[in-house]
Amino acid sequence: MPIFYECQRCTACCRWPGQVRLSDEEIARLARYKEVSEFDFIQQFTRLTSDRTGLALKDKENGECIFLEGENCAVQSVKPQQCRDFPNLWNFPGFEKVCHAIPRDVSAEDYRAAVLKATGRLP
Ligand code: SF4
Repeated sequence: MPIFYECQRCTACCRWPGQVRLSDEEIARLARYKEVSEFDFIQQFTRLTSDRTGLALKDKENGECIFLEGENCAVQSVKPQQCRDFPNLWNFPGFEKVCHAIPRDVSAEDYRAAVLKATGRLP
């Protein structure tokens, strides 16, 4: 039976080191949401990925995502796909120790519906 991980919005994943890679479409969407030009968005909120092949969100000095405001994501409704996909469509060994998402045994049909709702795409 598939397991769907129900996010508890604890924001732990917004505080880990790592990189949130951005597609061109995501940059355009985030820039519109922030009401800035794409050029200004890139200058203000992004950095080169570690392999220097693309752009990722900047971190704050303390390692948090630049869009984490207190306990909330400032761009929740338009957040990048990589953020939406965790932890159901990607995760890492031992993630359950640091992510508070609640595992639920669900039917295959409910799993597809829940993942679609959480990530905007089918598993
Ligand atoms: S995915 Fe996990 S770590 Fe991230 S906010 Fe949800 S419960 Fe917390």
